[in-house]
Order: sequence, then structure tokens, then C-alpha cells
Amino acid sequence: MEGVHPVRRALTAAIAALTVTTAGTLVAGTPGHAALPGWGRPVLPTAAPQPGGPGLGDSYFPDYGNGGYDVEHYDVRLRYDPQTDLLTGTTTILARATQDLSRFNLDFLLDVDSVRVNGWPATAGREGVHELVVTPRRAVTAGQQLTVVVRYSGVPSETLVGGYTGWTRTDDGAMAVNEPESAWWWFPSNDHPTDKATYDISVSVPTGVEVISNGVQPRPPVAEAGNRTRWSWRTTSPTATYLAFLAIGQYDIVSDTAPNGQPVVNAYSTTLGELGPAARASIERTAEIVEWASGIFGPYPFEAQGGVAGPVDGIGFALETQTRSVYGPGFWRRGANTYVVVHENAHQWFGDSVSVGDWSDIWLNEGFASYAEWLWSEEQGEGTAQELFDFTYASYPADDEFWQVPPGEPGPNRIFDGAVYDRGAMALHQLRLAVGDDAFFAILPAWTAEHRHGNASIEQFQALAERISGLDLDDLLDAWLFTPGRPGVPTTARTSTPPTEPTSWAKLRASHQLLTR
Ligand SMILES: [Zn+2]
Repeated sequence: MEGVHPVRRALTAAIAALTVTTAGTLVAGTPGHAALPGWGRPVLPTAAPQPGGPGLGDSYFPDYGNGGYDVEHYDVRLRYDPQTDLLTGTTTILARATQDLSRFNLDFLLDVDSVRVNGWPATAGREGVHELVVTPRRAVTAGQQLTVVVRYSGVPSETLVGGYTGWTRTDDGAMAVNEPESAWWWFPSNDHPTDKATYDISVSVPTGVEVISNGVQPRPPVAEAGNRTRWSWRTTSPTATYLAFLAIGQYDIVSDTAPNGQPVVNAYSTTLGELGPAARASIERTAEIVEWASGIFGPYPFEAQGGVAGPVDGIGFALETQTRSVYGPGFWRRGANTYVVVHENAHQWFGDSVSVGDWSDIWLNEGFASYAEWLWSEEQGEGTAQELFDFTYASYPADDEFWQVPPGEPGPNRIFDGAVYDRGAMALHQLRLAVGDDAFFAILPAWTAEHRHGNASIEQFQALAERISGLDLDDLLDAWLFTPGRPGVPTTARTSTPPTEPTSWAKLRASHQLLTR
């Protein structure tokens, strides 16, 4: 992500402040929840099936995701009306139980009409902020295949958590683009990056409205009764829930083939007006940027490429939605901006393919995507990474509040703090200086290969960097990632005093200024 919208930051803060309560409300037509055991019931001495956990124990967001099963595929079949923001749909979840289950949770906010598990009607109730509690008619055994069919409806823009919604309604449609909470407003899920799955996403909209999502189109849009059209998208690579997205509205779609043979699908909101050419001059370079990044980070991890330029009244940030990043209009106000395209596409390796195992590991996403911008600046002759390090370091005095947020442990309310990005990139540059270019540019592709389509931690990154470099990196990474205060740098690491402003600085700053602190 880059350039965080104030509303979405407030959402994260509000949600982080909320705690799971046990005040359940019954879903219409699904009696029986009142008889269910509570979370606090004692562990039974027998091997009776147990409830799946309401969360996965993430250190920042403990109730995100759910225990007891692993999702393999989501089939999300929706119908959307831009005039009313009414979303109705059926999501079919293919999963496998990882324990004997008496019941399990999904993360979801809209109104549920019915739930079936392996063909049998199931009971659904609510707990906490976003927990849908599903009790199958028959207990589930460990290893068993689960087919969970959830039928639902709702108005996502009016479905608020702590006063906010992660669904952005626009004049001509809507956007389901957010981090770390997005899925709750459009499909029931196991909402944590550690449970990746493949997706089929289809949406019926009034004919003349476009729908963009992840991956490829397995078939062209199909006409449906009532002057409607159904759009279908498919992603065959493991995808974290927050990286699935929808952009619905008036879009010009540009399809092409990348140099590596992959499909490229870019989409531009027709509302962009005079911002349109700058958006195109940036996003149309996606395939070139992916090719450049592949030379540094290793093979591109997914099956398609692209970008979506959102409408003027849409999101105020950009997000690395898998295979097709989504950009708010603010990035084009100064003209073409390839730096944000580099940032979001670097996330395809760092964040999307190698995902956090815990949200406290956010530096593995944002530090690396920000450092990619410095490498691109160097490539473009607009300032070297060293020059950008020097200028960034000097631009924050030692007593600046900026240095008080350690990027390796920013806290749940600060996962998108500027320090995670800028100090995060500085940390990588110091690592590069310490290990040398040969080792540094061996560590990056080794990291993306070793954890491809998986999850990883900062600790694992340090272990890999130490293995490849043969150095003990404890002191360096402690100082740059985990210790409040401005780390010292060897004077030999400074190219000039005071450093001159690199050419790319103004554009990088304009992109990063959309960050709220
Ligand atoms: Zn980012």
C-alpha cells in the first residue's frame, strides 16, 4: 500500500481498539445459536470435536482469520446495483478441516440468508466485530473436505465497523480495495494472509458498467436477463484475502501481452479527465517495470499483470492487489508517476507472493516496496539509493518524532506509518552497505524463491541474510528495525554534507506525502 487514506487509517485504528465480545445476534431463520457453547467453555476431557478458534492469534489483530480449517478456493458470485449499493451473492468456500470441528468461524459483515456445509443446512450466528459462527448439522472430522455455501446480501457502504467501511462507493460504482480489512464487506472468508487460496470472482452489473478484479478473464462478459452483464475473473495463484479486489464503474480497459507472454489488463476510470494521460503514461509501463523488477527480485510470481486507475471520487491511496494494483487519482496530480507503479508492483514479490505471517512483519512489505523505488530512481538516473538514503536521513533531524516508530515493530495502529516505508527503505540500504552488493542482490531473489506463495517473518529474513552474507546482522537490524531513535551511520556512508536533493525526491515525496502520520 502507499498513500493511506485518512478514513482507512481511522478504520484500522478503530478496529484495533475493538475487542471481541460474546454478544451474539441471531441471523434470521437460523435458530439454535443460543444453545451453542461459548468461547470460554472449559476444554473437555474427551476427544469431542471442538470449536475452531475465532482468530489465528495474530499479534496485532488476534481475531483476524479463524482456526480449524484451511481454505483452498473461493467462488464469489455476486450481483451489484451501483444505484443502491445493494450487493447480493453466494460464496462457495472449498476448505479442509485441520481439526475435529463442532463449529467454525468465518469473517464477514453482510446479512447472511443461509449457510450450508457439505450440502446440509447449517446454523449461523454472530459474535464479536466480524465473526460469523457456523455450526454444521454434523460434526466435521480433521482432514475432511468442507464445502461451505453462504448466501447473503447487504449495502456494504452502510455496513460500518467503528463508524467506517472498507468498501468505497463511487458515483458510478464501488471499490473493494483495502488493507488489512477488505473482504468482510463482500465475501465471507478466513481473513488472514496465512490462509491463501485461489479465486473465481464474478459480478453481474447493469450492462454498460465494467467490473475489474484479479487474474485473467476465463470468459468474456456474458449478457444476462434484465439488461445485465456478468463479468468473470479467475486467479490461479494463492492469494491472500486482502489482495482480492473489485473495481466496479465506468472504465476503459486496455488488454495486451507482456514481453514474458503474460496477459496485461489495465483499466482507467473515465472520470479521470485531465489526469487520464498521466495515469496511462504510468500504468502502461507496468509490463516494463515487471520485467525490470524480475531481473532483481527473481521470476514474476503470478499469471497476469496490470493496474487499475480508480475514479476521482474513489480511494485516496494505492494497493498492491494481486496481479493488478489499484491506484487512487492523487498519484497523477503531478504528472506521470512510475514510482508508485514500481512500489505496488514490487509488492507482487514482497507482500503478495511472500506475505506476512503476522501483521507485525509489515516491514517485509513496505520497506522492500519503498526500497524498490530507490532502485528504480537509480535505474532512471534520477538519484542513487545512496543519495536517497543520505537525503532522507538528513531530512529527519535526530529529535524528529519520525525516528520513534521502529519499522520492525510499529504497533497495530502504525503499520502504515511513514517510518515503516522510509526508515524501512533506509534499513535495507544499510543492510546492502553492510553485506555488499553481491550478497544483497543474492539475498533478494533467494528470499522470493524460498518463500514464494507463502508467509514469512522478519526473523526468517535475517536468518537468510546472515546465511548468504556470513555476517551477524543482529546489531544492524536491531538498530534499524527495532530500536526507537535515529541510528548512527558511519561517516563513510555519507556522500556529501549537506546532501543534495536527488531528482526523484520530489516525486517520491509527493507519493509518500499521501501517507498520513
Ligand atoms: Zn506499499
